Amino acid sequence: MRTLLIHTITAFLLSFSALGQMQPFTLQEVKVTNGAFKNAQDVDMRYILSLNPDKLLAPYLIDAGLPLKAERYGNWESSGLDGHIGGHYLSALAMMYASTGNAELKKRLDYMVDQLAQCQAKNSNGYVGGIPQGKVFWERIHKGDIDGSSFGLNNTWVPLYNIHKLFAGLRDAYEFTGNQQAKQVLVGLGDWFVELIQPLSDDQIQQILRTEHGGMNEVFADLYLLTKNQKYLTTAQRISHRAILNPLLQKQDKLTGLHANTQIPKVIGFEKIAQLTGNADWSEAARFFWQNVAQTRSVAFGGNSVREHFNPTNDFSSMLKSNQGPETCNSFNMLRLSKALFLDKNDPTYLDFYERVLYNHILSSQHPQKGGFVYFTPIRPNHYRVYSQPETSMWCCVGSGIENHTKYGELIYSHLANDLFVNLFIPSTLDWKEKNIQLTQSTEFPYKNQTELVLKLAKSQTFALQIRSPKWAENVEILVNGKKYPVSAQPAQYMGIEKKWKSGDKVTVRFSTSTKLEYLPDNSNWAAFVHGPIVLAAQTAKTDLVGLFADDSRMGHETKGKLYPIDKAYALIGDTDSYLSTIKPAGNLTFTLDSLTLQPFYEIHDARYQMYFQTFTQADFDAQKATRRQQEAEALALEARTVDKVNCGEQQPEVDHAYKGEKSDSGYDDDGRFWRNTRSYISYQLQNKELAGKTLEIHFSGNLKTEDVGIFINDRAAELLAVKDKVITVKTDDKELVKLKISSENGRPTPRFFQIRLVK
Ligand SMILES: [Zn+2]
Repeated sequence: MRTLLIHTITAFLLSFSALGQMQPFTLQEVKVTNGAFKNAQDVDMRYILSLNPDKLLAPYLIDAGLPLKAERYGNWESSGLDGHIGGHYLSALAMMYASTGNAELKKRLDYMVDQLAQCQAKNSNGYVGGIPQGKVFWERIHKGDIDGSSFGLNNTWVPLYNIHKLFAGLRDAYEFTGNQQAKQVLVGLGDWFVELIQPLSDDQIQQILRTEHGGMNEVFADLYLLTKNQKYLTTAQRISHRAILNPLLQKQDKLTGLHANTQIPKVIGFEKIAQLTGNADWSEAARFFWQNVAQTRSVAFGGNSVREHFNPTNDFSSMLKSNQGPETCNSFNMLRLSKALFLDKNDPTYLDFYERVLYNHILSSQHPQKGGFVYFTPIRPNHYRVYSQPETSMWCCVGSGIENHTKYGELIYSHLANDLFVNLFIPSTLDWKEKNIQLTQSTEFPYKNQTELVLKLAKSQTFALQIRSPKWAENVEILVNGKKYPVSAQPAQYMGIEKKWKSGDKVTVRFSTSTKLEYLPDNSNWAAFVHGPIVLAAQTAKTDLVGLFADDSRMGHETKGKLYPIDKAYALIGDTDSYLSTIKPAGNLTFTLDSLTLQPFYEIHDARYQMYFQTFTQADFDAQKATRRQQEAEALALEARTVDKVNCGEQQPEVDHAYKGEKSDSGYDDDGRFWRNTRSYISYQLQNKELAGKTLEIHFSGNLKTEDVGIFINDRAAELLAVKDKVITVKTDDKELVKLKISSENGRPTPRFFQIRLVK
C-alpha cells in the first residue's frame, strides 16, 4: 500500500498495514443512485424477476423425487448442467435484495431456500443437487471410481462446478440476507461432501479436481468462517488443485492452453485459504496469477481467453480471428479476485484493473434496454455479440450475468478504523451506520471529469477522507468547501484529507483525462484507443447480425453471422506517432476517426464494432497487403465450405458436440493446438444441416497407421477416401445427425486429433 504525503498542517502519512486490513461496506450501506450502473441494475432486476423460481427448482425436485410445480428450463438446464442457474439465482436474489431492498426478491429467496431444504430432507443424507442421476453419480465417486477430464467426470458435465453454484448461492443467501435456513442447508451439504470424499486418497481427490469445479475450495473456506469448524478448512485445503497451485508457488505461468474460467475461482480459493491460515506463499501465488492474467493475458476491456482458453502471451492472433473472444464469466471471477487482493493488500493498483473491467466488460455485457447477457466479446474487427433471453438461454454467463449487475456498490467505498476511502467515481450514497457518517457522491463521470462528495453527519467528527487518484487521472485537484486543497496526487495512490468534518462539508475532485493507444500484450501491431479508463470502439455495421438474441439451441450463445474480412477493417497507417492525432474529440466522449465515430464500447449494442485497429507504416502496409488478402481469402473459403466442426480437446466445442470417450487424454501442443487421443474410443455428434456436408476431414498430428484406427459413422465403418497431409478424409452418410466414433485398434493409442470438419 502506497500513500501520499500532503503538504499542509493536516498532512499525514498512513501506514495502512499497521492499521489492519481494508474493509468493504455491505451492499445495504451503499446505493447506486443514477447513471449507467444504476440502469444496469434496474435492467438486471427485470431479468431476474422474469425467471421462474419453480422452473429453476425443478432439477432439485426431480433428483429428490418430489412433485414438480413447473417443468425445468431447457438449454443447459436440461442437458447435464441442470440446477446451476438455480444456484446463481440464489446469489443474484440475495445481492440484489441487499442492494435495493426489493421485498419480492427476498420472498423468492426465502421460498427457494425452503424448497431446497425440503429436497435435502427428502434425500436424508445432507445432499441436495440438480445433477442428473446425482445419487448414482456421487456413489461412484464415493467408491473411488473416478475418470476425470477437463470438463467431464465419469462422463457427467462438470458436476462439481454445478454444485459449487448451489454452495455459493446458499452462502450468499445467508451472508447478504441473514436467512438462517440457508445456513442450515449449506452446513448439511458441506457435511455430506466431507463424508463423500472421506474415503478418498489425496491422489484420488486430485484426480477429481482435473475436472472444472468452480470455487469449491473457496466455499469450504467460507464454511469454516461461518462455523469455525476446522474440518471445513482442512477440506478447503484438500480440494485445492495442486496442478494449478504448484507452478504458481514456483512463480511459473503455465496457464497457456488451459480453460481460463476453470482456473480463476481456484485462485480466489487459494487467496481466501491464505488469509485464514496465514500462509503467505499461497497469497503470493494468487497475486502472481492475478498479475499474469491482468497484465499479460487481458485485452484493453479487461477480458481474457479465446474459445474459453488462455492463448499464448506472445500471440493473440487466434483471439483476433475468433468469434469466441473473452468470456464474461472470466471477468466476473477476475473482479472477485481483484476485490479479495485489494482488501487483503490495501493496494489501489488492483482498483485500476477492477475499474477497467467494470466499465468495459461487465457493464457492456448486458443489453442496456432489452436486458440479456453476453457470453463472448470478440475483438475480431467488425464482429458482434449475442444476448441471452430469459426463456431460452441457460448458459454459465447467464448465471454469472444475473449476479454481475447486482453488486456495483461493493467497492465504491471502503474503510479502515477511522478512514473512509472513495475508490470509484460512481453516483451513489453511503450510509456508514457504525460511524454515523453519510456521504452522497454526485458525478457524471466518465462524461464529465469531476465528482462531488457531500457529507451528512449527526455531529462533527474527525476522520480521514481518502480519495483514490487513479492511474489514468491527470492534473488532479481537490476543493474542500470550494477552496483548493493542496495535494500532490500520485497515480494509483490515495489523497488523504484529515480534518474535523461537519455536516454539509463538500469535497470536489477534478481531473483531466487523455486518450492513449494501448497495444495488445503480445506486442503485435494491434491497438485499441483508451480514454481515461474507458475503452473506445466504433460501431461499424448493423448487417448480418444472425442470432443476435439467442434461441435455445446448444450453440445459441455464439454468433452465427458471417465473419467480415480482417484485411478490409480500418487500419491506422502512417508514422507511429501520428496514430493518436488521427482521432478528433467530438464531445460527450465521442471522437471521429476519418469516417468512423469512436465512443465508449459499453454504449455499443445490436451492432458490429471495431475495437482493435492494426497499425502500419505506409511501407509495411503496401508490402503485406497481397499476403494478407490471400490468407484471409483462404480462411474465409474454408469457413464457407464447413458445415460443422469440432476442435478436439476444447471444452465448449466438445460439450456442444456431445463428446463421449474412454481412456482419452487431451492437451495443448507446442504449435498452439488443442488435441485429444484415445486408447479406447472417442465420439462426437455433428450436425449435417440439409445434408450439405459430403465428407469428414479428421486432422491429426504424428504418425498414423490406418489399421490402428477405426472410424465409424452412425455405427457403420466409414468409407476412407484419403489420408493426405495429416488429414483423414472419410465419406459421410445421408443422415443429418452424424455420430462419429473413432476407436483405437490393435491395442495402440490413436494419434492426436485436433480438428474434425464436416465439409461440402
Ligand atoms: Zn460463462
